[in-house]
Amino acid sequence: MFESLSDRLGGVFDRLRGRGALTEADVRQAMREVRIALLEADVALPVARQFVDKATEAAIGQNVLRSVTPGQQVVKIVNDALVEMLGGDDAEAAELKLDVAPPAVVMMVGLQGSGKTTTTAKIARRLSKGSITGRATKKVLMASLDVNRPNAQEQLATLGTQVEVATLPIVAGQQPVDIARRAMQAAKLQGFDVLMLDTAGRLHVDQALMDEMKAVAEVATPNEILLVVDSLTGQDAVNVAQNFSEQVPLTGVVLTRMDGDARGGAALSMRAVTGKPIKFAGVGEKMDALEAFQPSRVAGRILGMGDVVSLVERAAEAIQQEDAERMTARLAKGQFDLNDLRAQLSQMQRMGGLGALAGMLPGMKGAQKAMASGAVDEKILLRMDAMITSMTAKERAKPELINAKRKIRIAKGSGTNVQEVNKLLKMHLEMQTAMKKIKKMGGMKGLLGMLG
Ligand code: GDP
Ligand code: MG
Repeated sequence: MFESLSDRLGGVFDRLRGRGALTEADVRQAMREVRIALLEADVALPVARQFVDKATEAAIGQNVLRSVTPGQQVVKIVNDALVEMLGGDDAEAAELKLDVAPPAVVMMVGLQGSGKTTTTAKIARRLSKGSITGRATKKVLMASLDVNRPNAQEQLATLGTQVEVATLPIVAGQQPVDIARRAMQAAKLQGFDVLMLDTAGRLHVDQALMDEMKAVAEVATPNEILLVVDSLTGQDAVNVAQNFSEQVPLTGVVLTRMDGDARGGAALSMRAVTGKPIKFAGVGEKMDALEAFQPSRVAGRILGMGDVVSLVERAAEAIQQEDAERMTARLAKGQFDLNDLRAQLSQMQRMGGLGALAGMLPGMKGAQKAMASGAVDEKILLRMDAMITSMTAKERAKPELINAKRKIRIAKGSGTNVQEVNKLLKMHLEMQTAMKKIKKMGGMKGLLGMLG
């Protein structure tokens, strides 16, 4: 059993008393414990070291939120860095790139027993039943190139029947490269969209396996080469990943046996060494036990500190809520001047989900369209801020004062043009109208409630 990170950090946290910015000494002390926690989660040593350096850099100088301890704040920072390093919460990463002239070829590589054959059938099932992915169904052909293990080809054929996916007829005595050639030909002639090649593995990385794999890759020119790794591999994961990625151009990783008690450290090692996205996680022996890889869930598993992370997230939300309430108070008095617009813009910037928020605001057609299309990016927000800065206090409080002459002055002062000043003022007017409507609907709180 491992001691939880919160237990480990307990002592350190008690000594971290500051409520301002995290100091270097505080962070370094806490990170020593983080490093041990990573190693206990089976993150390979060099990867743990590299990760800790990165997270330390991110943590030093950050402000500690009200209502959480510095230690809890460090955990949140470490968690975010983990999610980031595991690929961020980008669902697209999990998709296979199969939009090529058919057949798209997916080649599975890895050590023996890692779960290649099982995963081949799971992915084939997923592709052929588009309903799972919400994508178009694909006509899939599977072929086993494993001539080493007795009955390996039959194993794939059996799984094929089970998931209702075609397999290449078995021809005794054929070598892997020849099977790959025959599979390519069959896929082309019979109009398959995707060809999945399940390759042989060895118990350890060896050159014969690597040569065979390279020869097959040359013949089949795969669009995806997925490295299948047992998540229980632990410290050895780095060697496996390094060896395979040096020999063939991997496009992604699949981690199997995530249903077991692996703490997910292999994921971090894989990602760090190959630089390739982890596309799927195998979560059982059954054919439907395959999931898109979820960085945040695995980060939680590695740290074992989901509670602390959500605590800090709630604290951050509470502060946003307070800001929103301050805004509501002003709106209640019927006030929404350009100072408020500026505050609103910077809050939107922080929240990121600009388009989403604008979409919720009634009566903001113009701004909504611009935002949804991504036209209101960070640069534009900065230009808007510059224009508001160039206004006098009176103009900000009473935008109706801004006549043609003043517009020219503001444009010059902010390095923009009159057209942009007009756009800004129009947007302000639209938002002011929208805010009045929101007030009628029960204020900002009501709106946030609606947002969920
Ligand atoms: P290969 O040698 O790489 O082709 O490995 P196999 O696909 O034959 O898998 C070896 C064993 O691992 C089989 O008994 C599978 O059922 C099992 N297996 C594969 N993936 C998973 C998984 O995600 N979870 C669990 N629990 N078992 C798995
Ligand atoms: Mg196999």
